[in-house]
Amino acid sequence: MAAISSEDTTQAVRSEFLVFGAPDLQQTEVDEVVATLESGWIGMGPRCIRFEELFRQYIGCAHAVSLNSCTAGLELALDALGIGPGDEVITTPLTFCATANVVVHRGAKPVFADVDPVTGNIDPEQVRQALSPRTKAILPVHLYGRPCEMDPLLELAREHGLAIVDDAAHATEARYRGRKIGAIGDMSVFSFYVTKNMTTAEGGMLTTANAAWADAVRIKRLHGLSHDAWKRYSSEGFQPYDVLAAGYKFNMTDLQAALGIHQLARLEANLAVRENYWRIYDEGFSEMPEVQIPPQVPEELLESGSRHARHLYTLLVNSPTSPLTRWELVQALKAENIGTGVHFVALNLTTYYQQAFGYRRGDFPHAEYISDRTVSLPLSPALKEEDLRDVIRAVKKVLRPKLVAVP
Ligand SMILES: *Cc1c(COP(=O)(O)O)cnc(C)c1O
Repeated sequence: MAAISSEDTTQAVRSEFLVFGAPDLQQTEVDEVVATLESGWIGMGPRCIRFEELFRQYIGCAHAVSLNSCTAGLELALDALGIGPGDEVITTPLTFCATANVVVHRGAKPVFADVDPVTGNIDPEQVRQALSPRTKAILPVHLYGRPCEMDPLLELAREHGLAIVDDAAHATEARYRGRKIGAIGDMSVFSFYVTKNMTTAEGGMLTTANAAWADAVRIKRLHGLSHDAWKRYSSEGFQPYDVLAAGYKFNMTDLQAALGIHQLARLEANLAVRENYWRIYDEGFSEMPEVQIPPQVPEELLESGSRHARHLYTLLVNSPTSPLTRWELVQALKAENIGTGVHFVALNLTTYYQQAFGYRRGDFPHAEYISDRTVSLPLSPALKEEDLRDVIRAVKKVLRPKLVAVP
């Protein structure tokens, strides 16, 4: 057999490991962090306030509250709604465990509703079927950055008097039919974890149009202390304070906000880079029957002003055309020095959710289909185009060994 490619199959495609989800950090961030350190005020303070205001303007909402994580924000959102024991919150099984864990922390039950088999987002019809007299809220996740079908969810919420708290961890830049994610749900929560579209190392932001909820979250993020208690050690002098609630320690710090201010400034430019990288991957994999590329956003949605935030580029490993299973592919790519991710293992397949709530394999076939096959490829704007070419070469090498075999 003649060689189709001159690929050397004995050597890894890359000599250096390609980290999945590398952050794009630049000199502006370094300078701002140094300036924060030199200011002497590194806890929650003026930079958090500035970051909140910039983020609020970017989303176009009434209130933005900075937090130490998205998880903390989801927790405080459910707390502000008074969700507790005996209540149910409907969410997707195809998400990071934090989305459902926060429901459990409130003593409430996470009720999963299966996803759309194409988009992986929660299916409004399945939500309808999961409703019960105990349902208090719907917690959709804009999976991989693709906005959920919000209109039918909003309609369900209106009909049944439910709140919508959306997990926007992937969706900072996303829009749905001309409206910004973060300005649609009752409360929306964003993540600035290291691998997300913008990062503060750890951090999150809750947005809402409701002043009372925003106030409740502001108070509970800092122990339940009365307003502006973060200023208590400032030059204004120590003020008398009160404890209004048994709060949490969920506040952001100025060191994190120093990163956030500049990450936000580059957010749109970095999205443009990821959009370009997305196209490169699509072209690279479109002819491979072994994998399925992410579904396009339908023209109708694009024309009505929807936007995918391009957080995670995921392939579905087709069986039986692919010689490797998904976990085998992850291992094979690691051997080629390519880091990948799996987003996500459906929660009904995990030990805790099976033992605590009796969920089983077979409960959510669409989520399980994706969960069994999905693999996320590096997409960070910190990468170079050559890095993406390496990823494409590596995927082809491990899935189509015959095509690169030497005679
Ligand atoms: C990352 C992530 C979270 C948690 O975000 P943190 O800021 O790390 O708390 C929640 N939900 C989803 C879908 C995520 O991907």
